[in-house]
Amino acid sequence: MNLEFDRQHIWHPYTSLTNPLPTYPVSHAYKNKICLENGQELTDGMSSWWACVHGYNHPKLNQALTEQAQKMSHVMFGGLTHDPAIRLCEKLVELTPEGLDKVFLADSGSVAVEVAIKMAFQYWISQGNKQKNKLVSLKNGYHGDTFAAMSVCDPENGMHHMFSSVINQHFFVPAPQTRFEQDFDINDISALETCLAQNHQQIAALILEPIVQGAGGVRMYHPEYLRHARRLTKKYNVLLIADEIATGFGRTGKLFACEWADISPDILCLGKALTGGYMTLAASLTTQHIAETICNGEAGVFMHGPTFMGNPLACAVACQSLELLFENNWQQQVSQIQSWLNEALKPMADLPQVKDVRVLGAIGVVELDQAVDMAKIQAFFVEQGVWIRPFGKLIYLMPPFISQQQDVKKLANAIQAWLTL
Ligand code: PMP
Repeated sequence: MNLEFDRQHIWHPYTSLTNPLPTYPVSHAYKNKICLENGQELTDGMSSWWACVHGYNHPKLNQALTEQAQKMSHVMFGGLTHDPAIRLCEKLVELTPEGLDKVFLADSGSVAVEVAIKMAFQYWISQGNKQKNKLVSLKNGYHGDTFAAMSVCDPENGMHHMFSSVINQHFFVPAPQTRFEQDFDINDISALETCLAQNHQQIAALILEPIVQGAGGVRMYHPEYLRHARRLTKKYNVLLIADEIATGFGRTGKLFACEWADISPDILCLGKALTGGYMTLAASLTTQHIAETICNGEAGVFMHGPTFMGNPLACAVACQSLELLFENNWQQQVSQIQSWLNEALKPMADLPQVKDVRVLGAIGVVELDQAVDMAKIQAFFVEQGVWIRPFGKLIYLMPPFISQQQDVKKLANAIQAWLTL
């Protein structure tokens, strides 16, 4: 493997090309194991960023992919349709919260967010309302790396700051403070209420990650906040976009995190685990009312249509991944992982450098007082035989749902070993 070429010419996510951190060459992966070129096997703690819930190289997902490839890998979606897309959208309509029955298939999470935002704006424009040209989002939020998505990411820890001269400016309210397991503090919602009361005439939509804010801090907040957010968006005539790209498909202990609050958003974004982490595919679902309003408007159509929309390979593997979720009893898998994470991580809260430990579903977080030294900690974890990729002050785990107790223990032991070096 020409690693020198990799170093010299290939961008990796959020990585310098002039002074890159090391990258570890992978030869193959199976189940919850990532196998390096040097023969080392790493127990996966990341599900390749929330996506690979059934593990790698799964025979059924492989089969879905190869069977589909023998029929067709891709055809344009304009004027054509196919069974994998239809089957997938049927399932998504059936599984997602009530009312979300119009599906737009997009190519990645960020694009699904762009699509959702565009839907929200086009909904208002279609009614002749051009005043509603702003969004509101929560601090500590993360919604992707493209421009509209970036404009609603946390204004400080996101990319806002640096790109403030070129991105659209929207409203932000403080992140919810009441933790998932605490008693709800009603004051938590007052900033959102004030913002909506003062600015609703300009606000097209509230966008948020339900229950777990992911890349903006892996924070888990109270379902009551979400319930109030839904109530207030209705009261102030503002759409609600739920970004479940990270939380969707069981990760938080519910199939969709919106279920914790028993709410339905106006627009729902899905991605990541949709294909079991096999390939890039995302979806933005909306209601009959929004779809009708858009299509009765000036354009007559929704103004979006990517080249690889509804890619048959991705749709076929996504259908199979959804079947596997139920075949494998995802609920039991996630609740077991939650109890193993609680058992293994919670005692670390007493360590001096640990600020907080939190667990929800198959997500476990050890938050430190200080940011970690990435090069050092990454090398240490690889030495310990685990794949954990912290960021900033957060060492976090979201293992594949197929992980066993000894896997979760191994991951947690590696964290413990780092903290007690
Ligand atoms: N929204 C959320 C909540 C995410 O976690 C992510 C990915 N980390 C995205 C959007 C963007 O998805 P993608 O990386 O597939 O563009």
